Amino acid sequence: MEGTPYNFFVQWHLTERCNLRCRHCYQQVAPEDLDLSEIRQGVDNIKNATEGWAASYAVEMSPSFHFTGGEPVLRTDLFDILDYVRSQGFSISLMSNGTLIKPEVARRIRDAGVQDVQVSLDGLEAVHDSIRGKGSFKRALRGIENLLAEGVDANVNLTLSKLNAEQIEGLVNLAKEMGLSAVSFSRLVPCGRGEELGSQILTPVELARIYNNLSEFTDSKVSVISRDPLMTVARLKEEIPDVDFPVGGCAAGVFGVTVTADGSIMPCRRMDLSIGNIRDVSFRELWIESPVLQQLRNRQSYHGGCQSCRYWAVCRGCRAVALAFARSIGEEDYLGPDPQCPSYEPRTTG
Ligand code: SF4
Ligand code: SF4
Repeated sequence: MEGTPYNFFVQWHLTERCNLRCRHCYQQVAPEDLDLSEIRQGVDNIKNATEGWAASYAVEMSPSFHFTGGEPVLRTDLFDILDYVRSQGFSISLMSNGTLIKPEVARRIRDAGVQDVQVSLDGLEAVHDSIRGKGSFKRALRGIENLLAEGVDANVNLTLSKLNAEQIEGLVNLAKEMGLSAVSFSRLVPCGRGEELGSQILTPVELARIYNNLSEFTDSKVSVISRDPLMTVARLKEEIPDVDFPVGGCAAGVFGVTVTADGSIMPCRRMDLSIGNIRDVSFRELWIESPVLQQLRNRQSYHGGCQSCRYWAVCRGCRAVALAFARSIGEEDYLGPDPQCPSYEPRTTG
């Protein structure tokens, strides 16, 4: 997903335990969670890297941690973790299913200085409950209301598939009525339990139609966004930088990384590709030396479309979707085509 070199982020899955069992979830088996002291050490490890980059390259960094799960609110030490991360100068977001955010939890989230909370909604009530379980929609909405009552910036994210593609307008209207700051959209990645929903993946034409129309919904009340690189391409207005280094697009290993509950480091959670463990490696060295990360940043490593595409620097497709489709035909390939791409155009230089 898009970002800039200055807005480096870590998406940290504090636990894979969850009180729901969503049909599209990428998590299948819950590993043992890192404990509080291991998480603090991991944060220090990452801080060492971001401070090092700021000093070495004379750039101003605004690194952030996005905490999620499973369901992060299930961790009894969640607020100890948030306090520590804040004390180290990072900004914090939370991603939650919303169902456990009681008034007291919302108050503590506000007091912890959390910048915003993203709650997953997968459509309006009937569709959402069919994906996430009966009653989960109403409970998620109560959680959002509790956040708003405490003045916490709340927004919602929908994982797009054929199951809910017709619900976009309804969801945007709901967001406006509730006073949410944003509605965002991500693509269903057919991995984990989401593999069962492979037939619900949108075609390139369907996805293009949705992304071309999304901007119509944005107004002064709510931002309607997607961090999907294909959305970036759909909305491109200015001159495209035809360069061989990433300047936008898929964030995996470029603008951010994921740390999973057991400390595994992945380019993106949806890629399910461990490149080390935060307990064992110097993150600063791994960021430079990991062959996987190096490949993700190198145009020449790609093949089958993206490599020769004029949008490579600002897109590169969703590497998680590319990997999931390759795995579905028995190949371990995260550098091939994004099968949902409707926008390939050959570059005219290079
Ligand atoms: S071919 Fe790759 S880089 Fe080009 S628009 Fe499609 S996904 Fe993006
Ligand atoms: S792999 Fe896909 S989900 Fe992950 S950062 Fe890239 S575009 Fe986003």
